[in-house]
Amino acid sequence: MRWAKKPPTFSMSISPSDTGTPKAAPGGEAVIVNATYFDGRSALAHAVTLSLAGDVLQLRGHGIARDDPVTALRVSEPMGAAPRLISFPGGAHCEVRDHAGMARMLAATGFEDGLVVRLQRRWRWALASVAVTLAVVFAGYHWGLPAASEWLAFQMPDAALARMGSSTLDVLDRIALSPSKLPAARQQQLRDAFALLAAPGGAQTRYTLHFRDGGTIGANAMALPDGTLVVTDQLVALAAHDEEILAVLTHELGHVQRRHGLRMLIQGSIVAFVVSFYIGDVSSVAAGLPTLLLQARYSRNHETEADHFGAAMLKANGISPQRLAQMLEKLEAAHRAKAAAKSDKDKTATESQARRGGIGDYLASHPATRERIEALNNAR
Ligand SMILES: [Zn+2]
Repeated sequence: MRWAKKPPTFSMSISPSDTGTPKAAPGGEAVIVNATYFDGRSALAHAVTLSLAGDVLQLRGHGIARDDPVTALRVSEPMGAAPRLISFPGGAHCEVRDHAGMARMLAATGFEDGLVVRLQRRWRWALASVAVTLAVVFAGYHWGLPAASEWLAFQMPDAALARMGSSTLDVLDRIALSPSKLPAARQQQLRDAFALLAAPGGAQTRYTLHFRDGGTIGANAMALPDGTLVVTDQLVALAAHDEEILAVLTHELGHVQRRHGLRMLIQGSIVAFVVSFYIGDVSSVAAGLPTLLLQARYSRNHETEADHFGAAMLKANGISPQRLAQMLEKLEAAHRAKAAAKSDKDKTATESQARRGGIGDYLASHPATRERIEALNNAR
């Protein structure tokens, strides 16, 4: 920009927003600014002082003195903390790091950074800070949050897990599940069969196996953080062989063993806490914990880990991992059929529920079923 004089007074401006008000230095006090001068012929830096005498910029240093009308000078736009450059005719220039002094001196000549410059300055900083914030949030969300959640999940005391598990099952029983209609003997038969399976590598994972009528949820199985495994009557009915039920249970036990549910819960809580901290309603997070758990979706990685655990456990007990693949096929088919039937009845409701991935939406909580089925079929 040109340090230009605005005729006819000594007020100067290139500012398009200039109101024409003279911007003389208040009280006429002399402003002296330190600067570094380069004469344009050598790379030598000279310490100099700048001051104004009317419309003339006086530059003084050891063996250097020059006086230039301000109208002949160019001043660089302010860019953050970078020094501002004053360019002299003939190739010499000055670097000014004293931004405040520079601003006072410019003001004394009536110069004002143009509106555009001021906006640009603000924009640059705003954009830079937005970019940095996004990078930090992305990195934190992508790497920091899962790592922190995993660590926290394995620090969680058993008592806390048990409380979380039972309160979540209470909520499920209230809103979605009802007592199993399976005969007690049949339940016990499946419990005994699962208890006979040795976990891979001698892993000890505590669990309790519950049977429930899934109602509208239909065929499903879920694992709560404390090892509470829930199997619906509909899943039992869907299985053609008990090994298929056991296969699903090994997968769910894998989620418990790796504490996937807890990790998703912690992750969700941290996000919810941070969000509500900004909104200012922290107490609602604590109240919403069971809901968070129900809405938590396992990541693809978690599913793969649970499949690996399940497949290893099945193989260790002489059962083919294909049993899990077969069950996944049936679950997928059953839930697609249910969604299709529902969508005929009430299209919008189903769509919005599917989008939200409502409770019991097996496909939403178990993504990438197709790939998993193939991987399990190859895991013989
Ligand atoms: Zn799963």
